[in-house]
Amino acid sequence: PRVRELMNTKAVSITEDEKIKTAARKLLKGETNHLPVLDRNGMLVGIVTTFDVSKAVVHDGKNNLVRDIMTKNVIKTHPEEPVDIAAQKLERNNISALPVVDKENRVVGILSAIDLGKLFGGRW
Ligand code: SAM
Repeated sequence: PRVRELMNTKAVSITEDEKIKTAARKLLKGETNHLPVLDRNGMLVGIVTTFDVSKAVVHDGKNNLVRDIMTKNVIKTHPEEPVDIAAQKLERNNISALPVVDKENRVVGILSAIDLGKLFGGRW
């Protein structure tokens, strides 16, 4: 199967100029641990996770904005990528989700390790 068939199309995202507290609030809803970060034009520019927010709290720095704590070098996938390639990206980089982007670098979904678990749940 391809990423398109397993990805979650309702990715919760955030913009880079929002406050870390806003990211924490979104994460607290419990729907996801990964927020793709968008610029003003809706392009993917980073990712922020519960890990990053926790780190910001522990270091108690002056960082106030998502932009200051996000990971900028985002490892991503696209809808037509075979899921085994996507799974390798997760494994090799010790991460648990990949934003799914179209050709314009706009987020169209998110693929998490949990979504890959569907492969073993009898759906395929
Ligand atoms: N388990 C790891 C550890 O013990 O260090 C932590 C998980 S991972 C390395 C944490 C970092 O990965 C976070 O800073 C997060 O922003 C980053 N991350 C998560 N998903 C990512 C992705 N798709 N692309 C790039 N970075 C990602």
